[in-house]
Amino acid sequence: MPELPDLAVFQQNLKTIVLNKIISSSGCNAVKSLINSSPEELDEAVKGNQFTDITRRGKHLIFTLNNDLRLVLHLMLRGRLLLLKSSQTHHTEECIWFDFSDGTMLVVIDPTRWIKLELLKDGDLNNSKLLKNLGPEADKVTLEELKEILQKSRLGRIKPLLMDQKKIAGIGNAYVDEILWKSKIHPNKTASLLTDAQINTLYRNISNVLKWGVEESTKDVGGELAESERSWMNVYRKRGKPCPNCKTPIEQTKVVGRDTFYCRRCQCNQ
Ligand SMILES: [Zn+2]
Repeated sequence: MPELPDLAVFQQNLKTIVLNKIISSSGCNAVKSLINSSPEELDEAVKGNQFTDITRRGKHLIFTLNNDLRLVLHLMLRGRLLLLKSSQTHHTEECIWFDFSDGTMLVVIDPTRWIKLELLKDGDLNNSKLLKNLGPEADKVTLEELKEILQKSRLGRIKPLLMDQKKIAGIGNAYVDEILWKSKIHPNKTASLLTDAQINTLYRNISNVLKWGVEESTKDVGGELAESERSWMNVYRKRGKPCPNCKTPIEQTKVVGRDTFYCRRCQCNQ
């Protein structure tokens, strides 16, 4: 699933690829993916217009049009973006597409068809159903905000808490394992029991790991709309490989049903 660093790279690359191109038409093969519009209303909103800005909030991309309308896109678990030539055969998994007058086409594909695209007819992000319950941005959260989130979590465990978009927006199952490994915190640790020193370390590592993720992902995918394979990560999907810190083999377990990778020795403070 794409997480904050992947979305930050998509945002950057999309700006280079699609900004200010005239949208000649749009289409939708997944009516249930559309929030607040029908395929016809979506087409009417974008046809003849241009994307003038692309921003990000949590794991969502926000496309601003020159008519001040906005589209909010969530790629969910399996959604991907492709830039194709308009003459290319339509992909069987494509959900939504935008044809540009220069003969290119931006396509959102998803075999599960879970992606969501919301049309904001007044352009006001405060009225977005997708964005309304998000917590502060993971790379912008303040130390005070983080402390409050941790304290309020009572018996909640740290890994699911950091992945809860209503508490902090942008972190998913891969980056949370890296952040907790770097911070030497066990993924099952009760969040409200972290010491001040652990909270300070965690706070620093959330921002550092996400920033590092943007740098490594950019090196991996360049200007493409692809998602990094994340082979450069330290513990994520590294089961049995030596911990880069202490050489103990990385273990794999489940935390709230999600695959979790950690070092038994470095993260022993459960
Ligand atoms: Zn270790």
